[in-house]
Amino acid sequence: MSRNTALITGITGQDGPYLARLLLDKGYEVSGLVRRSSTPNLERLERLGIRDRVRLIEGDLGDGGSIINAIDLCEPSEFYNLAGQSFVPESWKTPVQTGDFTALGITRCLEAIRLIDPEIRFYQASSSEMFGKAQETPQSETTPFWPRSPYGVAKVYGYWITINYRESYGLHTSNGILFNHESPLRGLEFLPRKVSNAVARISLDLQKDLQIGNLEARRDWGYANDYVEAMWLMLQQDEPGDYVVASGETHTVRELIEIAFGRVGLDDYEKYVVVNPDFYRPAEVDLLIGDASKARAKLGWKPKVGFRELVEMMVDADVELEKTKLAVKQNIL
Ligand code: NDP
Ligand code: GDP
Repeated sequence: MSRNTALITGITGQDGPYLARLLLDKGYEVSGLVRRSSTPNLERLERLGIRDRVRLIEGDLGDGGSIINAIDLCEPSEFYNLAGQSFVPESWKTPVQTGDFTALGITRCLEAIRLIDPEIRFYQASSSEMFGKAQETPQSETTPFWPRSPYGVAKVYGYWITINYRESYGLHTSNGILFNHESPLRGLEFLPRKVSNAVARISLDLQKDLQIGNLEARRDWGYANDYVEAMWLMLQQDEPGDYVVASGETHTVRELIEIAFGRVGLDDYEKYVVVNPDFYRPAEVDLLIGDASKARAKLGWKPKVGFRELVEMMVDADVELEKTKLAVKQNIL
């Protein structure tokens, strides 16, 4: 049997490196689509020690020809589309570009697959943000969408075009409707990493306070390394499908902050938290909680890392990171 090969878009992001590592461990040849950057952005691949084990191919979701070129070069059996403008507040600032990459970019990938090799299996990184103003609790594959940001709206387009290519052309295309997932590799602008990094810096006297928005917002948070396994499992099924991937628990921003400060022995977290209206959103998704029973039943998937363990892992990683940076700065290393 020929070797499994995968093409991952968004390999320089949070999920890309975890997925790449999982696939490499399973014996895949892994390629990643990367867009040109004026400064190196391969740090996350380096942190997982896989920088030299993946092939990087230049391309951009805004440019269909570059996706065709990438498929031609690496001939994947599986295509994981993780790329996109993924930060919700940014999507109000750049709604058109968000739509171009996070919505139309998916059609560019699907067209490339249809034209070059319709046997390629396709995974689309759909999002719980599609539920937005949630019409029922918990949210499952049958819950109607009501997106609350240009990002959520773009993701709804991506979800349906993925299903449309399945129904129109018989492609093996699947949507993972993933709820928030985090890790030490998460971008610093997202709430859990913003908190873990601020807590680490405050505990080391590098920062005074944590400026934050809506403390009462609730999310269903899980660990990215658990969630990429669900992506892979979806593409191993005989039939394509759409799956909610979630922890099934919901927690407030406040709870997350309390655990994070507690991890470094600062139990009086309120002393350090400053509510700043700049971090409120024009429209909020108040409560997200996923029902992943389909993924559990059909894929045999369940999360391994719980909420507290996740937050503490992120704080510990940021304390180490900040200490290392400090040591470098002080020329100790
Ligand atoms: P990140 O924001 O960490 O990574 C996004 C990746 O997309 C980066 O590698 C970025 O490259 C790349 N990218 C952005 N625009 C383009 C473009 N035009 N062409 C090529 N590459 C591009 O996201 P995550 O890893 O956290 O998430 C992966 C996917 O899953 C995203 O689509 C996200 O919307 C979705 N998702 C994530 C959830 C989460 O909680 N993490 C929840 C549900 C869905 P560069 O490094 O150059 O910026
Ligand atoms: P999202 O669910 O994809 O938007 O992920 P985020 O991690 O960016 O935000 C999670 C929740 O935290 C949202 O409900 C935000 O409104 C809330 N939140 C509160 N304060 C902040 C903040 O300072 N930054 C971010 N990013 N989110 C915040």
